[in-house]
Amino acid sequence: MKKYLSLRLLSLIVIAYMLIAFAWWSVLLYTKNKDAFIAKAEYMKIVMIAESTIKSDQEFLQTQAYQDLAKQYQRQEWMILGEAFVFVISLVIGVWLINRGYNKEIVVANQQKNFLLSITHELKSPLSSIRLILETFQKRSLKPEQVAKFTNSALQETDRLTTLVNDLLLAAKIETTYQPSKEPIPLTETVEDIISKLKIKFNTAVFKVDSLPDNIFIEGDRLGITSALINLIENALKYSPKPANIEILLRSNQQNIIIEVADQGLGISDREKKKVFEKFYRVGSEDTRKTKGTGLGLFIVNEIVKAHQGKIIILDNEPKGTRFRISLPASLEFKSELEHINI
Ligand code: ADP
Repeated sequence: MKKYLSLRLLSLIVIAYMLIAFAWWSVLLYTKNKDAFIAKAEYMKIVMIAESTIKSDQEFLQTQAYQDLAKQYQRQEWMILGEAFVFVISLVIGVWLINRGYNKEIVVANQQKNFLLSITHELKSPLSSIRLILETFQKRSLKPEQVAKFTNSALQETDRLTTLVNDLLLAAKIETTYQPSKEPIPLTETVEDIISKLKIKFNTAVFKVDSLPDNIFIEGDRLGITSALINLIENALKYSPKPANIEILLRSNQQNIIIEVADQGLGISDREKKKVFEKFYRVGSEDTRKTKGTGLGLFIVNEIVKAHQGKIIILDNEPKGTRFRISLPASLEFKSELEHINI
């Protein structure tokens, strides 16, 4: 960081030197041009007086030769001013572009550093829990209830690892070859499945699912859509104080399929709403930092929704918290062959 700062300082000094040097050269050129004009005009006047073409200064100022010289001088003056202006503007634009690029690089570098730190933690902590459990099994003979309890936590940790690895793979795929497939997905049922799994981990959370019609089917990439739903619902739980209160609204009509996930948690400020979809971005507040995460979740959700020609927006929930709204085109609604021929 220190290296970057001294580099930045050095480039600012060079730019300032260039500006001062250029200003000095411009002033010099300007005055030399004026001196040259005065000298030429004087010389011209002396020659004309010697040849008796003119008698007074007044007459000299009226001559065509002087008028041409004055015009040429003015043209040169404008040329110098114009070039100085273009140079300063180009320099300012250049410095602004470099600065913008530099700031972007710093942000990306910081995000990647945070990502590496969090990913290392996210990978290590389930692995050490599983190891500890296996060591306990090896060293001690446990009662069946204890075995069941430990096995259950080991399975949960394995699930956490699987989700993380899937997210990483999906994020890498999204940036290269992701093309959503077209499989029928029972949307309402998928949401209910996800909730029943999450209820084990977040046992105090209250969920409300409101689906209209009762069973919505869509056509898309099952893995991608499921991952997007898991990410949104898990975030709603992660960023809410316990007991979390989550509402999931599913609607299908002629125009759209709407999926809303609302919580009554920390909320997201308007400034952050635009940024949270960026890769590796995590809101910098202390409350958020206390939770585990990689900043990949919403990036994946947004990319999956876009790949399905949909849109995602973040709204403020009432009375508090966040409401994520996904709208997908109605063309993604799954219509079975039987429905098509109206049997
Ligand atoms: P992660 O949860 O791994 O940090 P995400 O990409 O899922 O990454 O989310 C990015 C950031 O957006 C989070 O760090 C968090 O600050 C914020 N965020 C996401 N969902 C919510 C939510 N439901 N309520 C409040 N903040 C949220």
